[in-house]
Amino acid sequence: MTYDRLVCANCAAPVSEGRCPVCRANRERMQQESFFAGLNPVTLVALLAMLVAAVALLAHQTA
Ligand SMILES: [Zn+2]
Repeated sequence: MTYDRLVCANCAAPVSEGRCPVCRANRERMQQESFFAGLNPVTLVALLAMLVAAVALLAHQTA
């Protein structure tokens, strides 16, 4: 995700500079998106495996 060269429609400055509220909102949103996009698939699989293990453990304990 490259938002460095994205120009704001409100102030015509690069969004990455955050000169106006529109810039800052866009920058924040795109940083969040890039955070989720940057999540390692291995990390996601590991989290999923942990979730399944936790559910299995709970089911085992209650049964
Ligand atoms: Zn702006």
